[in-house]
Amino acid sequence: MKTGSFIHNPKMRSFLLKFFGQKNFFWKLITPLLKLQKNMKTDCIFCKIVRGEMSSKKVYENEKVIAFHDINPQAPVHILVVPKKHIEKITDLEDSEEDKEILYDIIKTCKIIANQMKIAERGFRIVVNTNPEGGQTVYHLHFHIIGGRQMRWPPG
Ligand code: 5GP
Ligand code: ZN
Repeated sequence: MKTGSFIHNPKMRSFLLKFFGQKNFFWKLITPLLKLQKNMKTDCIFCKIVRGEMSSKKVYENEKVIAFHDINPQAPVHILVVPKKHIEKITDLEDSEEDKEILYDIIKTCKIIANQMKIAERGFRIVVNTNPEGGQTVYHLHFHIIGGRQMRWPPG
């Protein structure tokens, strides 16, 4: 279709006039882009794994979460459960239906993984490191599931 005929199409002209005539058309244009940017960080390694741009040894995936082997395992079983939405840390979870569902899905996934890895009965540990003193190194929320050996207390 030629640009001229596209612009001169009466229906298209009326749509464009209505859309750009609105006071808040700018925000209507950029709001979806801002939402997309909030949910996916381009430079985050776990977002890259979610998008399939970086490889991982995936053990489970559903609409909201993904679980894969930690690259530097601290025990015979060491799986990371990660929400697909980019949330930096546990204290950034919001009191929204979306985030409540994500948190529920993460916990449900931990149970599935524990059964899948056959550590549910023996026992295992779930760890969420938060901020520098908590030892967080990747700023995309993740739950470590660690098992397959005796855990010690207190942790280091
Ligand atoms: P944190 O220190 O933030 O609690 O945990 C980050 C974890 O991510 C670490 O255990 C680290 O080994 C793991 N990790 C870092 N980069 C990668 C990666 O590219 N792939 C995988 N599978 N794990 C990673
Ligand atoms: Zn991310």
